[in-house]
Amino acid sequence: MESINGIAGCSDEAMIRTENLCKLYNPHSKHEVRALTDINLHIRKGSFAVFSGPSGSGKTTLLNIIGTLDRPVSGKVFLYGEDVTVFSDIALSVLRRDKIGFIFQDFNLIPRLSSIENVGNPLLPLGVRAGERFRRSRAILERMGLDDRLNHRPEELSGGQQQRVAIARALVNNPDIIIADEPTSSIDEDAGTQLIETMKNLKSNGTTILVATHDTRFNDIADEIFIIKGGRFA
Ligand code: ADP
Ligand code: MG
Repeated sequence: MESINGIAGCSDEAMIRTENLCKLYNPHSKHEVRALTDINLHIRKGSFAVFSGPSGSGKTTLLNIIGTLDRPVSGKVFLYGEDVTVFSDIALSVLRRDKIGFIFQDFNLIPRLSSIENVGNPLLPLGVRAGERFRRSRAILERMGLDDRLNHRPEELSGGQQQRVAIARALVNNPDIIIADEPTSSIDEDAGTQLIETMKNLKSNGTTILVATHDTRFNDIADEIFIIKGGRFA
């Protein structure tokens, strides 16, 4: 049984659920774009879900809404049985901080911070003291094979190394849910293989993983593959 911030949760069966999710960008203007239409899905705890589909089909929009970085125009998103579309922005930031780790295509590291500072950053609002932040960040970077890159800034790292720092940052809070948007598309093949291996290990630890990707190597470890076209499930 899970709960968010003390709110009683639901069973593991429907850790993530959406109901008739619709998203418009620039609604009621001549630039209106219908990005998602009537998306209904169930993702169980510990499931590895892959979202596949052409560029512009709505994968990023869907992951952003499930991850509460964006809101739908209509429909609901249930996390742990709670409709999070009615949560305040502050409640959502707390939920993301405690429960969700994000991995992005372009890494989104803070350029002026070292690897260890980037990884420790999500622990700052949790009030984790500097020594403990350093210890936890170092341990996870070592696990990612970056023990000799702790004090390097992102520009001093390869794409694959930057993505490993980004993964370490996503994992430092022990999130229940990992959301990764095209995580292998800006790194070379070997770095991608390593990332997929890391994701496999996370899956075996019971983390629920959502990946938007064109990379067919993910298909081998996916429990569910959602094909999205024109903002709808195909
Ligand atoms: P994907 O990740 O599958 O490439 P996206 O979710 O990024 O697809 O985009 C879905 C649709 O929404 C596309 O038509 C895209 O052009 C449009 N879109 C995405 N973000 C915005 C935005 N911020 N403003 C307007 N339209 C957007
Ligand atoms: Mg995208």
